Amino acid sequence: MSVDPPGRRPLRLLGVFAHPDDETICAGGTLAKYASAGAEVGVVSLTRGGAGQIRDAAVATRSTLEAVRARELDAAGAELGLTRTRCLGHPDGGLSDLDGDSLLAQVSEIVTEFEPDVVITFGPDGFSGHPDHVAVGAAVTEACYRLRSATPIRLFHCHLPRSGMLLRDRLAAWVVELTTRFQGTREFVRALSVFSRETAALGYAADFIDVEWFPAGSYLVEQGEEATAMYFLLSGSVEIRREDADGRVRVVDRSGPGEFIGEEGIATGRPRNAHVVALDDVTSLTFLAAESFSVGGRQDQALPLLTRTLPSGDRVDARVSTCIDVSDFVGHKIRATAAHRSQYPIDPAMFPDSILREMFGVEYFIQVLPERELDTSLLDDDGSAGGGQ
Ligand SMILES: [Zn+2]
Repeated sequence: MSVDPPGRRPLRLLGVFAHPDDETICAGGTLAKYASAGAEVGVVSLTRGGAGQIRDAAVATRSTLEAVRARELDAAGAELGLTRTRCLGHPDGGLSDLDGDSLLAQVSEIVTEFEPDVVITFGPDGFSGHPDHVAVGAAVTEACYRLRSATPIRLFHCHLPRSGMLLRDRLAAWVVELTTRFQGTREFVRALSVFSRETAALGYAADFIDVEWFPAGSYLVEQGEEATAMYFLLSGSVEIRREDADGRVRVVDRSGPGEFIGEEGIATGRPRNAHVVALDDVTSLTFLAAESFSVGGRQDQALPLLTRTLPSGDRVDARVSTCIDVSDFVGHKIRATAAHRSQYPIDPAMFPDSILREMFGVEYFIQVLPERELDTSLLDDDGSAGGGQ
């Protein structure tokens, strides 16, 4: 990757987003990759993220959250190797209510001042559908269109594929292969809960993840049934009971918080080889394949009309023009995610590297400027006639 041709200044890349953490979640690997190759990379967040959830009460209260998140953006920027990070003070959750002209003027000024070669922002889908994201993306896109005769900016919209990967299966394979029994710490319990639900909600994984409650004495699993779910115990304890052919039941094991249940059936595809019964009231983080559970969730509505399926099984918008291999920068992305501690209270070393690389190893973009002829070959994969949108 040549970013610094002789006689020229380094490539300049600007990301404009709505909230501190958007830069990492949407394009963190790409920003880190270009920064490490010598590009000057700046990120501007139009809000300080004051409406975000506070997932670690030790790091912020509602009244300190804006200041905390602005610092978290700086810390994440350091992990990604960014040249510059900046938060503006627009109201979190209120970007779509701002006067469009003044937002456009402000965004134009940011772009003009940084003189970027490349701008990255949200597309009309807002990545996750957040109205702030849609508003920022529209303003930045309009600004770049207006500036394009004066300066040759390449504009990209971030795109989130719909992953076909099941965390359920990857975690089961991981746990089964461990030589010692897995016992997650309290920190791991919290981190896995946040990490798995957030990534599944965004579409990085195809799981349906739920927190389930099992009153004392109830079955989580019945011996002989098909294995569809994997459980991670959040609280309470369970007994593993094996039933003989003649109906005798004996206790073979016990498990408690921080332990996985049912990974063997998921990893082998064989029916359950034991009963699992709640000894006291049990809560579990339950992983199921989403397609076997429900259709028509919010991701289906957010999915673009024209999609194509990659060899990995991921479904992407047919207009995706640019896939950046960031597998060597997944560590940067995870450390930057963890730097947004109020949002992602995770220890970056907790999760298996292979799973992280599979989830985050490629970032996808749609090139918007310079305008290109739509590559009709992209439209043929899903059976529709090529040639139009
Ligand atoms: Zn956001």
